Amino acid sequence: MDRTYLIKPVIDAEYPMIDYGKGVYLYDSEGKEYLDASSGAITANIGHGVQEIIDAMTEQAKRVSFVYRSQFTSEPAEKLAKKIASLSFPELNWCFFVNSGSEATETAMKISIQYWQEKGVMTKTKVLSRWMSYHGITLGALSMSGHTGRRARFIPLLEDFPVIQPPYCYRCPYNKEAPECGYLCANELDNIIRRMGSEHIAAFIAEPIIGASGAAITPPKDYYKIIKEICERHQILFIADEVMTGFGRTGTMLACEQWGVEPDIVTLGKGMGAGYTPIAATLVGDHVMEPIVSGSKTIMGGHTLSANPQACAVSLAVIEYLEKNKIIPEVKKKGEYLKAKLLQLQKSFSFIGDIRGRGLMLGIEFVQNFVEKTPFPRTMKVTESMISIAQQHGLLVYPAGAGSDGVNGDAVMIAPPLTITYKEMDDLIQRFKETLQQFTNFYLNEVDLKLEGDKE
Ligand code: PLP
Repeated sequence: MDRTYLIKPVIDAEYPMIDYGKGVYLYDSEGKEYLDASSGAITANIGHGVQEIIDAMTEQAKRVSFVYRSQFTSEPAEKLAKKIASLSFPELNWCFFVNSGSEATETAMKISIQYWQEKGVMTKTKVLSRWMSYHGITLGALSMSGHTGRRARFIPLLEDFPVIQPPYCYRCPYNKEAPECGYLCANELDNIIRRMGSEHIAAFIAEPIIGASGAAITPPKDYYKIIKEICERHQILFIADEVMTGFGRTGTMLACEQWGVEPDIVTLGKGMGAGYTPIAATLVGDHVMEPIVSGSKTIMGGHTLSANPQACAVSLAVIEYLEKNKIIPEVKKKGEYLKAKLLQLQKSFSFIGDIRGRGLMLGIEFVQNFVEKTPFPRTMKVTESMISIAQQHGLLVYPAGAGSDGVNGDAVMIAPPLTITYKEMDDLIQRFKETLQQFTNFYLNEVDLKLEGDKE
């Protein structure tokens, strides 16, 4: 093959060439079919090739594709901001558009610092976070991310913002069970803030359900109530990073709604454009914007393509599609169906240690020993093998967990487009079952090989 000029995630790996997509299926240039059980990177929330979105895109392109936000506003941008405000918590009425989740969380970080500055508090500049978290790849967002694998190369450039343990009940850092644990992992935030001094802390950021680095780690019932109470008590803003969980992925517009906790700032991305366009947003509460509106009147942030009319028109069409087809209210039921099928599979495959998550954001953690919960040695690259075997079986699953934290093991996420039908979920499960069967053979070979090595 000719040399490539494209820097891909793994430079010398061979990637299939994609040809087209329809609904939950993708087809490569050799005609192979893939069931997109990960919505790409938990992004293609309404599936591929939806005509209504293509039409909205074309219509807006005919009018105008780009205007610079310092010179003009546009109807799609104004309408989208109003629509998103109406879909989220009553206080979250301000919307700042960007192009990626990383930009959204970095903007949230900056707005939280600016908020305190506009109130005359200049020392509150840190944005605390958790280990096993991912908030984006740009340096500010990576500083907040507790994803050890992605941080490692840039440590000298990063702030040490991850400070507390995640609510990882399957491997509780305190070896206890909720609620008897007394929510030690949430209360740790209180201790850290006292040690660091709340006068230095602008905000705390968390993914309601941990995605890329935790494979759908879902906290117990009162976790966020405790977190929010600690933030309020110490005068620290609470930022919910809903880049992955937002836009209906877990069964409600925002996942935070399910814990009855209202964040001061929310970030959105991924499902917002559903993969049809790059678009993301930082939603800001009225009370956070108030000192800025009556102070400098400008957010120190933004990008050339922020509030791009073309991208906003696409996102509006995505929302309209979700609403017209009543997709979000069905997500919980579909998620329960899929989870029940996965739990059935667990009975036959003892290396499935944990199945977790909400709605159509499900995580599966693999273990060498079911009872002891022993992770596989990282050198076995179980996640990578699982992804590759699944792909051979025409199934796309999302790598999550592996390498994200030095101490934790292998996991994948299953998060298909929210539009998936029950018949397609059965197809998904069949392909996953074949994957697990083939992995069993692979795993046994590996163990045999290891035993052979030990004998020598
Ligand atoms: N925040 C969360 C919760 C994410 O899952 C991601 C990406 O996976 C990001 C932020 C970064 O988004 P992007 O890759 O669009 O920059």
